[in-house]
Amino acid sequence: MPDYIVAMKNIADIDHLLTALPKDATCYGYCPDCDEVHYLTEGNSRKYALELMAEFEQNKRIDFQSPDPEPLFSTDSLWEKRGGQMFGVLECVDGDGNTVVLRAFSGQFNTRWQAEGWVPPTFDLVGYYQLMAKIEAAVQQMTDDIESCQQKADQGKLKFEEAMGSGGRAAQKDCRRQMKEAFKALDLARKNRRTYSQSMMNVFLDLYQLQNFKGNQRAILNVFYEDRGIPTGTGDCCAPKLLHNAAQKGLTPLGLTEFYFGKANKASTRFHKEFYPGCKNKCQPILGYMLCGL
Ligand SMILES: [Zn+2]
Ligand SMILES: [Zn+2]
Repeated sequence: MPDYIVAMKNIADIDHLLTALPKDATCYGYCPDCDEVHYLTEGNSRKYALELMAEFEQNKRIDFQSPDPEPLFSTDSLWEKRGGQMFGVLECVDGDGNTVVLRAFSGQFNTRWQAEGWVPPTFDLVGYYQLMAKIEAAVQQMTDDIESCQQKADQGKLKFEEAMGSGGRAAQKDCRRQMKEAFKALDLARKNRRTYSQSMMNVFLDLYQLQNFKGNQRAILNVFYEDRGIPTGTGDCCAPKLLHNAAQKGLTPLGLTEFYFGKANKASTRFHKEFYPGCKNKCQPILGYMLCGL
């Protein structure tokens, strides 16, 4: 455990602290550094969320600020198979007292991480594309290796079967040994690819360097305090995207609203135009850190 986590509480204690929150908190989490829960309410942000919904309904796309619409950014996709999505707005104030409103969609929008008028992901996007290219090339190489090992193993098996039918004892023994070696090589090639993919997961997570309002920047693996493995997509929800971007720009958040737009999700826990607080599974274990310093 990193030494800056000074007073780690157990989950039951943290849940107890969370129940003492104001009812109108929309974004909150336990901060191990301060040993307390930090939170934001919606402030005036719901007004901007309602405006955003109206923009979606009027323009039927999320890149309505761009003069040149991209078909992928049509909101039609939110009513199709993949279903709706979470969106968030963060009302902020800049150093001169001007209101700045940031917008975010959760995860990707229709395969895209970035769209005009929306905050970028919390991970380093350039590093991400470089890493993806590197991983794809390496995985392709390993897949080719597996295929060639597979061919050798198949041939070895065939030769062994032939030898069993017609060959002498020495030839049979030789073929058996060769076949065994070929299968061993195949196993190893498969294992190599598996190990590589797993190790790349941590390299990928390292691209998430979360900034908070104390001026700290920390890898997401050091921020997520629960001891249960970090869920896929942690850091990709609207709240962390918005807070990270505001912290980077030196803005002070005042209120946050997240809402769902589109066809209800399969689990029937998210409904069109309903408002939801930051999620418990992925967001709460990082939001305390992210809100720290406000
Ligand atoms: Zn979340
Ligand atoms: Zn704190």
